[in-house]
Amino acid sequence: MALLLKNAHIVDPAAGLDGVADVLVEGERIARVGENLDAADAEVIDLAGKYLVPGLVDMHVHLREPGYEHKEDIESGTRAAAHGGFTGVCSMPNTDPVTDNGVTIEYVKSVAAAKGHCRVFPSGAMTKGLKGEIISEMGDMVAHGCVAFTDDGRGIQGAGMLRRAMDYGKMFGKVFMSHCQDEDLVGDGQVNEGAVSTRLGLLGWPAAGEELQISRDIAIAELTGAKLHIQHISTAHGVELVREAKAKGLPVTCEATPHHMFLTEDAIDGTYNTSLKVNPPLRTAADAEAVIAGVIDGTVDAIVTDHAPHADWEKAREFELAPFGMIGLETSLGLVYTNLVKTGKISLARMVELMAIGPRRILGVEPVSIAAGSLADITVFDPEATWTVTADGFESQAKNSGFIGASITGRATDVFVGGVATMRDGVVC
Ligand SMILES: [Zn+2]
Repeated sequence: MALLLKNAHIVDPAAGLDGVADVLVEGERIARVGENLDAADAEVIDLAGKYLVPGLVDMHVHLREPGYEHKEDIESGTRAAAHGGFTGVCSMPNTDPVTDNGVTIEYVKSVAAAKGHCRVFPSGAMTKGLKGEIISEMGDMVAHGCVAFTDDGRGIQGAGMLRRAMDYGKMFGKVFMSHCQDEDLVGDGQVNEGAVSTRLGLLGWPAAGEELQISRDIAIAELTGAKLHIQHISTAHGVELVREAKAKGLPVTCEATPHHMFLTEDAIDGTYNTSLKVNPPLRTAADAEAVIAGVIDGTVDAIVTDHAPHADWEKAREFELAPFGMIGLETSLGLVYTNLVKTGKISLARMVELMAIGPRRILGVEPVSIAAGSLADITVFDPEATWTVTADGFESQAKNSGFIGASITGRATDVFVGGVATMRDGVVC
């Protein structure tokens, strides 16, 4: 049946739209966009007072399946994505077995097709077993639908290894996504190296441990001509390195997370809240400001969550023993709207670029626009909805959010993937 979405305020810079209009969806695609549309047999949904934008995509998500289903699985992770307003996610390959061959890519895709609440674009490992020793089965993975290569969770330690992976893999036209961490320099670092690590008596994870690999990876991208995407950028100098690379015309992009923009190392206190233990770590206020400046000036191409679910018992251990990572799918839209759009730092159109257009462009997946002929992947949110983040409010299997207690304005209410509702009135379908 056709679907008529009426009276929402549409914002889509790709289609040049910023105003109230109706959207008629037929099958999996948008049939018409315009004022006062009518369709005799369509289901009509009144979205007055809400914003309607191209479906959001989070290009950095750990769905944990196969292998770590006690943390999250593809069903619960994509349910959290729908609840957060996302129509698609790029899954990370640090599963067990590692997603480093076509069979595992196929497994992720088939489970997502059977149980998922959003599109899943799987990434595949750059090296077998994420060990940084042998190139993964890149061609096989691409043939099965892998959209990008990354050893996320680790940086590739050997410069020659990264060079060989890029030299070989660039023929597939996919982007190489780098988690930048020099393991020799970072060692067992727990939190940003500086005043906070000293005060808390925790080993420091220095900014240089990230910046060294950002700099190196840009140099190797220049050497090989491969497309490079820097993941979860967290330091002021790192943002500057990407800015310089872009000014030189190199094919380099980067992403930033809400936690690296809206939280700092100062949030980590004597309570040793392990939900604030993330990799790369929360940095200084000056770093967070620099990342936001990069979002504003276009250096940052995408906002991602690095959604990293863990079981309660895993995070309930001593700070040094707890795993890195926090969840983010269900708070990202509201945090970005509250902290960047409502404050006037970025426009809603820029938010759409960062959360819908940029991620698809970098991943090379079909663009989505609020225009006739486009896939009907649509996110609707209420800009007036005010809510407080609570542990029992998540659809994710995990609760390890660093934003519990935060007051947020703006929340997704309705989500459509290929014309099919995955959330209606705040309830995941
Ligand atoms: Zn990472």
